[in-house]
Amino acid sequence: MKKRAMSALVSARQRMINLKKAEAEERLTAAFALPDVKDAHTQFVKASFASGMSGKGQESVEETHAKYVAALSAHGYSESDFYFVPACPICGDTGVANGKLCNCAASEYVAYLKRECGLDGRALSHFEDLDTERIKNPAQRADMQKIVSWLMAYSAKLPNVKYKTLVLLGGTGTGKTTLAGAVALAAVERGKSALIMSAYELNSLFLKCHTSPIAERDGILSPVTHADVLVIDDLGTEPVLRNVTLEYLLVLFEERLRAGLSTVITSNLGMGALRSRYQERICSRLSERDTSHIFVLRGDDLRL
Ligand SMILES: [Zn+2]
Repeated sequence: MKKRAMSALVSARQRMINLKKAEAEERLTAAFALPDVKDAHTQFVKASFASGMSGKGQESVEETHAKYVAALSAHGYSESDFYFVPACPICGDTGVANGKLCNCAASEYVAYLKRECGLDGRALSHFEDLDTERIKNPAQRADMQKIVSWLMAYSAKLPNVKYKTLVLLGGTGTGKTTLAGAVALAAVERGKSALIMSAYELNSLFLKCHTSPIAERDGILSPVTHADVLVIDDLGTEPVLRNVTLEYLLVLFEERLRAGLSTVITSNLGMGALRSRYQERICSRLSERDTSHIFVLRGDDLRL
């Protein structure tokens, strides 16, 4: 996803540069079709040559140059209209300097990354925009504020975080999906790739992979395996498919842990219900003390 976002950015920048160069060339052709401009330029070139040969006549060069500039200006042109001047001197507007994303293209890159990650069509919130003051129950409000600041700090450190697995448990409307989405959004805005999938979609992807020729399997799972942040929303709502759901989930969790990537899981189920549904091997991955952090969101439906 990051590679695709980068190449989309680079080709868009190149198209823009080519367009600007073509426009400059068009202006040049148009200006030099004007006899007075062409004539003034010829005088200037002649004076330059003569001065270059003799080492004298600098005044004449300056004078003919001034006349050329005046002729341009009379038609609304200036010399810099005829060549491409990059807005960014560091990358020459290519978006890349020394093999890295140039600062001038950072926000553009995030926009492409959002699109590649499928986040741009989603209604996601920034942590800063979550209005926790609206929560009426004081205990619930304090809990939520604590979780929000924990997750905010977490997202700001990605991918250098201790807990690679975050589990957000809670009833409908307690805000877990919003919080998980905010982690994904923060990750992408830091230039990391993030995917949000419902457990149902993920399960369908597993099934698709399971029923595809071996050669195609890696490609199907590659985005969920390699995203810097993967949000699995509403774990427990998907059907458990024999030989698919549990098996693929376990491999996915293990692969992502091994690669040091963050996985954020939300579920309406409690740890006990998750354990009986997903069995010990999966649940121990989710609740490993060194790598997992579990949040239990209690209380009323908030619809943050
Ligand atoms: Zn630049």
